[in-house]
Amino acid sequence: MILAFASVLGNQEAKAIADFLHAQGIEFKSAINQGRSVFITRKNLDPIQKNSVSSLLSDIQFIDTQTPYQLASSKWKKDKTIFSVKGAQIGGDEVTMIAGPCAVESEEQMFAIGDYLQSRGIRFMRGGAYKPRTSPYAFQGMKLEGLKLLKNVADNHQLRIVTELMDLSYLEEVYDYADVIQIGTRNMFNYTLLRELGKIDKPVMLKRGFSAKVEEWLQAAEYILLGGNEKVILCERGVRSFETETRNTLDLASLALVKELSHLPVMVDPSQGTGIRSLVTPMSLAAIAAGSDGLMIEVHGHPEEALSDGQQSLNFREFDTLLKSCRNLFDVKSRSFDFEKNSINFTT
Ligand code: PEP
Ligand code: MN
Repeated sequence: MILAFASVLGNQEAKAIADFLHAQGIEFKSAINQGRSVFITRKNLDPIQKNSVSSLLSDIQFIDTQTPYQLASSKWKKDKTIFSVKGAQIGGDEVTMIAGPCAVESEEQMFAIGDYLQSRGIRFMRGGAYKPRTSPYAFQGMKLEGLKLLKNVADNHQLRIVTELMDLSYLEEVYDYADVIQIGTRNMFNYTLLRELGKIDKPVMLKRGFSAKVEEWLQAAEYILLGGNEKVILCERGVRSFETETRNTLDLASLALVKELSHLPVMVDPSQGTGIRSLVTPMSLAAIAAGSDGLMIEVHGHPEEALSDGQQSLNFREFDTLLKSCRNLFDVKSRSFDFEKNSINFTT
């Protein structure tokens, strides 16, 4: 249950509430969310306890979300969460396009992609500098050098950077370079990391763990929200199932479900979600039709030479086709890409 006060409480008021809950043996966590002090209890207060709290401070709401996640629930926040990243809106009526290579590989590769993305009016560039690879022998990323390269390209092309943080020990480093910090599927259950992300003021894209139930995914988001960071983007990227012909099973039903259960923006990564280049555009269309707030697409100048995930990366021509297909769908869905306001057209 959430005990929500009208504004942020002073120390004395907060202490009075905390003392009461302690005295009643009610476990709780406190936070500031939506500009209000909240106390989140594991058990619901009974009517007598509610009366007692109300008599301490009358301007209070009791919200029973009936879920193990609380601040992430749409029962707590009815309006959809919308925020901006360096002037680019996330959530609401905008569909955000995030594109770029799986991994940062070289200056030449990154400037080519930067030129291309800018020519298409794309505002978010992805690229991993620290790569979580299944094989320790596979390319592990350019690390700090990769982050610097990302920043150089982004600054030169009016792009915002989405890049993965793999380990707490790199938080400061990644914080300095990223505009959105990506938490990968393997780290969705890393609660130490999530807790630290709650303390920072940078947007976090939380990918769904490949074995995570929706409820677990939303509780992972709750760790970040509880710490005070309200800029969380969820990203469906497929789960592991019995099917092995696709890399993962992209779970678009969960996208639609999470859009109901939570106020947080939800995006889709059909590149990891399918692992197959030819499936990326159809699944992008399906994601938008199902209400996705954005797409994260792996795009590479020469996918056949990519050091990671080339098999699921689109080349520039293929990405153009994806953009055009989405535009046709937008006419039906009355939505649009975030960059269309700038009306940057691409040829043929
Ligand atoms: C990626 O985006 O390249 C990636 C590794 O994502 P995920 O954590 O979803 O596998
Ligand atoms: Mn990848």
